[in-house]
Amino acid sequence: MSRKKLYIRTWGCQMNEHKSEGIAGLLARYGYELVDRPEEADLVIFNTCMVREKPEEKIFSEAGMIRRLKEKKPHLLLGVGGCVAQALGRKILERSPAVDFVFGSANISDIPRLLTELEERRRNGHLRPGRDEPVMAVSKIPDRLEDLPFLRRSRFQAKVTITEGCSNFCSFCIVPYTTGLLRSRLPGEIIREVSELAAQGYKEVQLLGQNVDSYGNDLDDPDITFAHLLRALTRIDIPRIRFTSSHPKDITPAVIDVLAERNNVCEHVHMAVQSGSDKVLRDMRRGYTKEQFLELVYELKKRVPGVNVTTDIIVGFPTETERDFEETVDLVKKARFGGAYIFKYSPRPGTISYYKWPDSVPPEEKQRRLEHLLQLQKQIVAEDNQKRVGEVVEVLVEGEAKPGSGQVLGKTRENKTVVFPGRPEWVGEFVRVRVTSASVAGLFGEALEVSVPVPT
Ligand code: SF4
Repeated sequence: MSRKKLYIRTWGCQMNEHKSEGIAGLLARYGYELVDRPEEADLVIFNTCMVREKPEEKIFSEAGMIRRLKEKKPHLLLGVGGCVAQALGRKILERSPAVDFVFGSANISDIPRLLTELEERRRNGHLRPGRDEPVMAVSKIPDRLEDLPFLRRSRFQAKVTITEGCSNFCSFCIVPYTTGLLRSRLPGEIIREVSELAAQGYKEVQLLGQNVDSYGNDLDDPDITFAHLLRALTRIDIPRIRFTSSHPKDITPAVIDVLAERNNVCEHVHMAVQSGSDKVLRDMRRGYTKEQFLELVYELKKRVPGVNVTTDIIVGFPTETERDFEETVDLVKKARFGGAYIFKYSPRPGTISYYKWPDSVPPEEKQRRLEHLLQLQKQIVAEDNQKRVGEVVEVLVEGEAKPGSGQVLGKTRENKTVVFPGRPEWVGEFVRVRVTSASVAGLFGEALEVSVPVPT
């Protein structure tokens, strides 16, 4: 019997991508295999995010496309989950006739039950439920993380969630409301999972959490901290361990100590600064000042040679004046980030800033600030990449640069992209590469040696 086909569309961060691996693994047990296009699918899942963009509009416009597909393929089902589902619940079913079922941020395990319910309705001749009988599971976020059988798409890079949720309540952020308060996995579970991945031949593990440095704060044991966890993971025989995201107010000297030892923990810290103005940082409830953040960056750069510090920045926060923005420009010049995701402020109903301030910075002014910072950041990255010409770097090859191009690309330990002539069979291997040129997009080079021994 042919297997049923599943297409998952994921919005948002790496944590959501990993959740989608959990959805795929769970549904594989029920006979579904993943496909790359919705046209091939029997079941489409939207795994949504509310943190950035205008999520609802996108979701409903893509649901409209699925509705057109359903005209040719009436048995096709569409389920919507993730943050938007958690926040809107049955309103999604009321607004879009294309959506068959809805599941919340912590209700992935309920999908098989919802599918059975839909099948029963189909057998009884009423697939599309009326408004008063929605097929949905949106529960209060529980204390424990859902235990899912992840189906990892990569055979050499794996994501491992260490925390979910966040208890910080930054004023602009929807995460604590849609994914709940901080919940940490027990260290034994994480160490076991990473050990199993190492035994299966994985070469890189990325630890995931909204704020990895707050790991353990909810567990009431002073020996369970992110630094302790990282230290334990350095003892596992796996070449690379990454983590994201760090929070400037929570990263501890003990974490920097682990990074400074040049073990298997990679020299990359993604640490959102959001603004360079002390006043805006206060209004955002971030818990640090510009000066404290810069001290941290200088300390990291001093103690961890070659460390790549990347960041997130929001422009056009309601209380951000031109002078505040200039403070951010100044901070970017001083911190010299290796990369920055820069976003225009967009109010999220339910957050503190949404209720406290009108979205007062005009759209064209937000756009101007965004472009100014993007330009500055590009210039910094191009200059710093240029300084690396002549270096020899270790690259884990992730794929072909373009199919059939004869070029492959991968990442250095510090998460810099490197493109160089190579063969598709090198994907998943370590290659020692000499950097011969650079641009804002990354480094370019030539391979010296494939599957280099990895430093211990
Ligand atoms: S630290 Fe702040 S921005 Fe990050 S997830 Fe938590 S509340 Fe949101």
